[in-house]
Amino acid sequence: MNFTEFGFDERLFEGIDSMGYETATPVQEQVIIPILQGKDIIASAQTGTGKTAAFLLPVMNKILTEPHDEHLINALIIVPTRELAVQIAQAMEGLSYFTNISSIAVYGGGDGTSFTTEKKALSSGVDVVICTPGRMIAHLNMGYVKMQAVKYLVLDEADRMLDMGFHDDIMKIISFLPKQRQNLLFSATMPMKMRELARKILHHPLEINIAVSKPPEQIVQEAFVVYEPQKIPLIKEILRSKDFQSVIVFCSKKMNVKQLSFELKRARFSVEEIHSDLEQDQREQVLLDFRNKKLKILVATDILSRGIDIEDIDLVINYDVPNDGEDYIHRIGRTARAASEGTAYTFITEKEQQRFAQIEELLGHAVTKAQVPEQFGPTPAYNPRPSRAGGRPHQSSGRKQGGGKPRR
Ligand code: AMP
Repeated sequence: MNFTEFGFDERLFEGIDSMGYETATPVQEQVIIPILQGKDIIASAQTGTGKTAAFLLPVMNKILTEPHDEHLINALIIVPTRELAVQIAQAMEGLSYFTNISSIAVYGGGDGTSFTTEKKALSSGVDVVICTPGRMIAHLNMGYVKMQAVKYLVLDEADRMLDMGFHDDIMKIISFLPKQRQNLLFSATMPMKMRELARKILHHPLEINIAVSKPPEQIVQEAFVVYEPQKIPLIKEILRSKDFQSVIVFCSKKMNVKQLSFELKRARFSVEEIHSDLEQDQREQVLLDFRNKKLKILVATDILSRGIDIEDIDLVINYDVPNDGEDYIHRIGRTARAASEGTAYTFITEKEQQRFAQIEELLGHAVTKAQVPEQFGPTPAYNPRPSRAGGRPHQSSGRKQGGGKPRR
């Protein structure tokens, strides 16, 4: 499903484009429309499924298109950890860049300056607040937080919050909110205590279950941790190492598909490319040649990762780390179909390590890191860090710059 089908405000599309999202993930497909319709939601969805944008986008669209008070808090997102607060604030910052929706992350552990900044934003009004429970209570106890206009409440990773003993804090925060509001609850698991919490907070919720698909067990998965310039020589080496009959190489961008396919053609591999710039009949011809084994290697964008059934693919190579876990599973699921064995390799550059770690989290295990042959020289260590690069995220007690277009 394409994002245009949700009918979002133009300003959101610019943010969606700048984040590089093209099609909605399954959780986004299922929750965005009910949220736009004003329904309460209880959704089981794990990290890596695109759940953050699934709630941020419709909430932001409502803030942009429905009447609201600009000087009061509109949406409150409660999360278990600082790291998650930072991550959501960063997604918020990217997606809202061309709007003038303001947001702030409110979490413990900072210094006095951050508390003062938070206090200023919470008392003068900020559209979206992303908070951890303890820190929010500290502010609420001081009496300046303007909660009377909160229309949207999101509880993210609610199961983790309960495990961490935040039940009473959550209920206390909620006691400050107006009764009339839309509630969205996201949780990886749905234990009994979660259902009890949901009963207390949600109003006739729509229940959504995003079953996380797992890749077939017979796929051998390995990853190569490399520097960008090592990728082309390494892929050539891999393709020459064995007599592969059918290989799909996935790239995240059309530009990479074109460049790689050019390089492989120059090295005399049997290769063609497939992406959305090709006419339908060109694509069909390439696919036909690949199916009929006239062509050994197909370099493709994710256009090919879902729903296309080609038998007997020996090897899938992720030349770039896919955007999310679902895409990874769909891509590697092109091999080892119908009980045959298959191999899936992923190239991970330094800036993709964090994204790959999220995919591993979704898979529930680490993927073996293969040894890059010595002749390629030193390679980076695999050392993914939580993405906290920018220090404290987007604290806009003032209005945003950027898009420059006025609100509504
Ligand atoms: P989340 O499950 O919200 O933590 O998202 C996991 C990753 O998927 C993040 O890096 C998001 O930026 C990315 N993502 C979310 N939605 C999409 C989409 N529709 N297309 C591509 N990437 C996405």
